[in-house]
Amino acid sequence: MSRSAPRVVVIGAGVGGLTTAAALARAGLEVTVLEAQVYPGGCASTYFHQGYRFDAGATLAAGFYPGGPMDKVAQATGIESWPAQVTDTAMIVHLPDGQQVPRRAGDSRWDDIHAAFGQPGLDFFRWQERAADALWDLAMRLPPWPPQSPADLIGAAAAGLPWMVSGSRLPLAADAFRPVAARLGNAPEALRLFVDGQLLISAQAESDRANALYGASALDLPRRGLVHLTGGMGAIAETLAAAVLSSGGQVRYRQEVTRIHTQPGQPASVETKRGESIPADVVIANLPPWNVRDLLEGPLPPALRRLPPRPHNGWGAFMLYVGLDGSILPPDFPLHHQVLAGRPLGEGNSVFLSLSPAWDASRAPAGQRALTISTHTSLDGWWELFENDRPAYEARKAELTEKALDTAEIALPGLREASRLVLPGTPVTFQRFTRRAWGWVGGFPQTSLFSTLGPRLERNLWMVGDSIFPGQSTAAVALGGLRVAQAVLRQIPRQG
Ligand SMILES: Cc1cc2nc3c(=O)[nH]c(=O)nc-3n(C[C@H](O)[C@H](O)[C@H](O)COP(=O)(O)OP(=O)(O)OC[C@H]3O[C@@H](n4cnc5c(N)ncnc54)[C@H](O)[C@@H]3O)c2cc1C
Repeated sequence: MSRSAPRVVVIGAGVGGLTTAAALARAGLEVTVLEAQVYPGGCASTYFHQGYRFDAGATLAAGFYPGGPMDKVAQATGIESWPAQVTDTAMIVHLPDGQQVPRRAGDSRWDDIHAAFGQPGLDFFRWQERAADALWDLAMRLPPWPPQSPADLIGAAAAGLPWMVSGSRLPLAADAFRPVAARLGNAPEALRLFVDGQLLISAQAESDRANALYGASALDLPRRGLVHLTGGMGAIAETLAAAVLSSGGQVRYRQEVTRIHTQPGQPASVETKRGESIPADVVIANLPPWNVRDLLEGPLPPALRRLPPRPHNGWGAFMLYVGLDGSILPPDFPLHHQVLAGRPLGEGNSVFLSLSPAWDASRAPAGQRALTISTHTSLDGWWELFENDRPAYEARKAELTEKALDTAEIALPGLREASRLVLPGTPVTFQRFTRRAWGWVGGFPQTSLFSTLGPRLERNLWMVGDSIFPGQSTAAVALGGLRVAQAVLRQIPRQG
């Protein structure tokens, strides 16, 4: 590679950062990814512990269909194939009355919806699929979003206006400004709970707050088809890291960045905990905005100046990483289950279970399975207890462990007795392992089309990951990372 190529430093080897890095390296830029951990993937990594390979956070892998986000990422980064196997049944949703509702990709999904919720369910999901298709169509035309300059605004208007007025789309355009609940009308409580549960894991907000267009596309993941990845979710980041290397870039682990040095108006270098200074023409921070704010010196970019002192809108995660005796699982037991035991959702009243596939011997000792159980938890309280009252912090952890296990046993009776290992993880654990400030995960709840931040912080300083459009999930951060790579390439004169 010629030295005249612009030097790009990407801070963090999450899926967003690695996607941007792989696309820029392939375009001929000199790319270095600096990752604090010893493995890639952040919230979507897979880590090794006592013979198990546990998914740290994300477990549902979507967007791999032809033309989908991960297919586009593969094309832009030179990845020939993902280690992915398609599955028809995305998950089973367990309702409080004992009903089990599958979320499937094929046409049989309509039978499932009809059997569980009758006509109101069919009406709601017909709207949802139509709105999701329309949003995807619009997203493909949009320039950087939310608009950050007059040119972006004009581009957005140029893309959006014809879309809004064309044919039958005016009713959908109204959905851009109202919550999903507006489309649920007088739906029965079972349907409302089902939709709320699904939205909470995909849009980080329930139907009364989730934006209707965002919500419709978040609810679309099962229809678009899910995959199981050999080696776990971390395989996405590992494949992307290999693509960075094969295009001549570098991925350096155990390299925590402690400072972004700027010269007026743009980055000059980054400094690592080991005291190394790495020059940079472009810096791409694969970090939540609070982390970027702490790394910057001098006057902050306007978007970071407006941040509240700490995240007040969003979630933490409480996890149980369980080593499970596989003999308790019925044959053909689906790998993902959402259990909705009651309201309010989260805090152990709803849990998400994901099992490693029986065919993936890399994930657990023979006869065992790696199981994760997760529930949304408010960030309030965890940090105060951790810093000021450690016994109370441990007590809250133990209490939520028992509650989450109770709820998980609805889907998997005998779970406690079959567990060989139960490791709890709180927002404090997430901060430790992903460095995300306060353990804030899942990005901004998708309550409005403007809930995410713009990716450009200042000249040659960009942000990628789940705080920017289109938001959380591995497919979304990969797509966001690709959009940023394209924007960087448009701005940098091509050299070398
Ligand atoms: C519990 C949970 C369940 C989820 N479930 C799903 C799911 O089923 N499906 C799905 O698609 N999505 C899911 N998500 C969301 C998804 O995991 C995230 O939206 C996505 O992985 C975030 O990617 P990111 O690019 O923002 O980077 P992150 O995952 O935040 O990674 C950032 C990386 O930067 C590194 N880093 C941080 N600070 C520094 C520093 N100073 N120097 C160097 N490196 C640094 C970190 O170590 C990390 O590797 C889930 C998330 C959680 C928490």
